[in-house]
Amino acid sequence: MASGLPLRVATFEVDITPPLGSPLCGGWIKPLEVVDDPLLAKGVVLEDGERRFVLCALDWCEVRNSAHDQLRQALAAGAGTQADQVAVQCLHQHNAPIVDVDAQALIDAQPNPLPICDAAHFKQVLEKLTVAAREAAGRLTPFDRVATGEAKVEQVAATRRVKAADGKILVRYSSCQDPELRAMPEGVIDPLLKTISFLAGEKPLVRLHYYATHPQSYYGDGRGTSDFPGIARQNIERETGVFQIYFTGCAGDVTAGKYNDGSHQARGELIARMAQGMRESIAASHAELAELIGWQVVRLPLPPREDAGFTEADAKRNLESSSVPPQPRLNAAITLAYRQRAQRPIEIPMLSLGKIRIVHLPGEPFIDYQLTAQRLAPGCFVAVAGYADGGPGYVCSAASYSEGGYEPTASLVGPRTEMALKGTLAELLAEE
Ligand SMILES: [Zn+2]
Repeated sequence: MASGLPLRVATFEVDITPPLGSPLCGGWIKPLEVVDDPLLAKGVVLEDGERRFVLCALDWCEVRNSAHDQLRQALAAGAGTQADQVAVQCLHQHNAPIVDVDAQALIDAQPNPLPICDAAHFKQVLEKLTVAAREAAGRLTPFDRVATGEAKVEQVAATRRVKAADGKILVRYSSCQDPELRAMPEGVIDPLLKTISFLAGEKPLVRLHYYATHPQSYYGDGRGTSDFPGIARQNIERETGVFQIYFTGCAGDVTAGKYNDGSHQARGELIARMAQGMRESIAASHAELAELIGWQVVRLPLPPREDAGFTEADAKRNLESSSVPPQPRLNAAITLAYRQRAQRPIEIPMLSLGKIRIVHLPGEPFIDYQLTAQRLAPGCFVAVAGYADGGPGYVCSAASYSEGGYEPTASLVGPRTEMALKGTLAELLAEE
């Protein structure tokens, strides 16, 4: 039985690995020396007979501010749609670029500039994505069924915010060799990997996976890689012959540190566990007739924080001073770029398809936002992707600013964000 709806889908893939010598992770680690495996942009164009939508996941650490707008525009131009019907997310690997052309322009205007990203390469990526989306729109294929599945991923994700006996928040980074920290509980995570598949009859055309953890097993060695989620994704693609896309969920406070000592062997184990989660989620998938595609966008203002170190004056002073070390100067440029960007609201798009909801959040949201989204629509299959516009940085809980830990010291937005973002989630996920 066919759905009778004019639904079509096509996939696209572009190699977005920057040239050797390009800055990685915003310029504060070793630049790219060797490519272990290519960084990819993978996406789908979806069409409901009238409108087109694009979902795209990049093997980059972050895309911030106007660079994120430019990516949405480039994909929209190619796919023949409008930018507010495009969602672009990063997987957040660390041996990968942070693209912030606004911050780069700010630091380039100084007498002693520093490299944050490769703006020329970014331009080429925009052009390649436009071409790829255009080609995809030219080979849209009918689909009539959509499958959803989920499975537990064993021994990958755990909280980065470990609570000590005295209540202090300890930091369990992505790789961790401290046996006491590793022995502490997993804490709040979402253990389930979710998969959404588009099918023509029995034939799967593309699978989208969602899981929430920081994706880096080790980094800083100049070796470009899509790291364990990207490698697992490509392994499953080879194994099944079906195009696979992976989105990182709300992983702001989630890392693999409990299960990862940063060794090469540990990366292999994480790849295997992630791939197993994908396999089991695919095996558990259940297909139903596709329904009409819905798309909602909420425009959320996320004002910059104004406490000491984050004000315009403080950031300017750090950017302009020749005695300030590189790391705080890079941060100052990134802070100032977000302060400019924050004058406009951030768009938060959600795609719905029958009982499926796919929410696209900015920055590095805490796992609580993903769990909240799921609680708000208990009758739905809610998948959440984080790391759209990376401008705000960590999207923390309000309480974390007084509790401590790492994330609230790096976020560019303040404690009021929680109520605002949860209001947006309620607006998007309210069930009629
Ligand atoms: Zn992060």
